[in-house]
Amino acid sequence: MAEEATINDNSVQDQWGQICSQLKTEVGDTAFENWLKPLSLGSFSDGVMNICVPTRFMRNWVITHYSDRIHKIWEKKNPAIKNLNFIVQAAQEESHGLYNPTCRSLLKKISSSPTPQNIYQSGVNSVFANSNTEGSLNDSLSVPLNPQYTFDNFVVGKTNEFAYAAARKVAESRDISFNPLFLYSGVGLGKTHLMHAIAWHIKQQDPSRNIVYLSAEKFMYKFVRALRYKDAAAFKEQFRAVDVLMVDDVQFMGGKDKTQEEFFYTFNSLIEEGRQIIISADKSPADLEGIENRLKSRLSCGLVADIHPTDFDLRIGILNNKAHQLGVELPQRVAEFLAQKITSNIRELEGALRRVIAHSQLLTDKEITLDMTQEVLKDMLRSFDKRTTIDEIQKKVAEHFNISVKEMQSSRRARTVARPRQIAMYLAKQLTCRSLPEIGRKFDRDHTTVMHAVRKVEELIVEDSSLAENIEALRRSLES
Ligand code: ADP
Ligand code: MG
Repeated sequence: MAEEATINDNSVQDQWGQICSQLKTEVGDTAFENWLKPLSLGSFSDGVMNICVPTRFMRNWVITHYSDRIHKIWEKKNPAIKNLNFIVQAAQEESHGLYNPTCRSLLKKISSSPTPQNIYQSGVNSVFANSNTEGSLNDSLSVPLNPQYTFDNFVVGKTNEFAYAAARKVAESRDISFNPLFLYSGVGLGKTHLMHAIAWHIKQQDPSRNIVYLSAEKFMYKFVRALRYKDAAAFKEQFRAVDVLMVDDVQFMGGKDKTQEEFFYTFNSLIEEGRQIIISADKSPADLEGIENRLKSRLSCGLVADIHPTDFDLRIGILNNKAHQLGVELPQRVAEFLAQKITSNIRELEGALRRVIAHSQLLTDKEITLDMTQEVLKDMLRSFDKRTTIDEIQKKVAEHFNISVKEMQSSRRARTVARPRQIAMYLAKQLTCRSLPEIGRKFDRDHTTVMHAVRKVEELIVEDSSLAENIEALRRSLES
């Protein structure tokens, strides 16, 4: 294989040595000594690098905590490394950073053996390793959970209390209350956080339950790879012992028919067996684009809970909470300033706070003040100011068509008002990252009206070139 041409024992060993040094600085000496130093390299084949681990427990730990990171670093250094496979093999020598020939001979034995040695393992880090087809599907199904994403660290406010309550209910009750739980919101508003929190909570109550959390992209990637290696049956098998399945960001399955079909199959069989499913997306099931109707209806048959954009109080709460976690005193004026300025989402709010804190700490504990915050975030805030909002769009479009914003938001259906309204909705969809329901709320309409407006305007743009030019001019002026 061409891929293997780029691999030889020396270069791989060098790379592994570099990766180890990098990991050591990232995770610290203790974690490195405990978990990473005992690893040694096995063989490489078909894009899969085998890594030997002394015990099964360590293997699970390494997979949950470090495999993605190792994979990322390695892939960057050497794109031929597509996957990692962790194999349990008792250490026979001090082998950190060294290629382990014992491990390689063991691997050879395994791969020539007619019976699969390790077809299926359950646990959060379910791993599939089919030794008949070396390099086929050898990495973990679930991805590691973020230890910070717990219920304790989740600040509850008006805009997310319903989703929070639903998540808690699913995490706490032994019986299934709603299945699936479908969480949706714009980006950075806490869906992934809540899903991880559910997983942590369930794990804590009952470590034996097999929880799998993965993104829809990862599901798709694994499925496509399984097909490529003709391992579809094995792919399905992996999900059989899953007690709780969480799939994040299912909007990415839009337009991917085969993946959807497989997902639909997995979904149905798990639901029939009474396993809990939790899904997230950036839109409600009905609004998901490119998703088959039967899947949409399946997705909405449990409880659908959305998280609204944050309000000022929640932003303040989150800033104070985060600062407290980081052991930093955040002056109230600074918190208020940030909460006023950064309204887009929580991820950006946290990013800004982290920047301010880093700045104060790097400059040998310079005190956090309003002036300093404004200075540090100057560029960031400028770019926020430049972002188009739905309010601006409404104002601009209303001016352009000589109507008032009030009329635009009113229930009037006269063409002279309805058309500008549709155009404003269309531009809001195009120029902001707001979801259809969010856009709808700004016009006092529901998401289906927005969807209809977007389609209508798309048609009009094709049919009516002067209207198309008008819209283009509006877009340019809004973006400038
Ligand atoms: P999403 O999955 O909806 O895009 P995330 O769950 O990744 O959003 O959240 C983005 C960031 O904001 C994460 O760091 C998360 O911990 C934080 N966050 C979101 N909601 C809250 C909340 N209610 N309280 C505290 N932190 C939150
Ligand atoms: Mg997310």
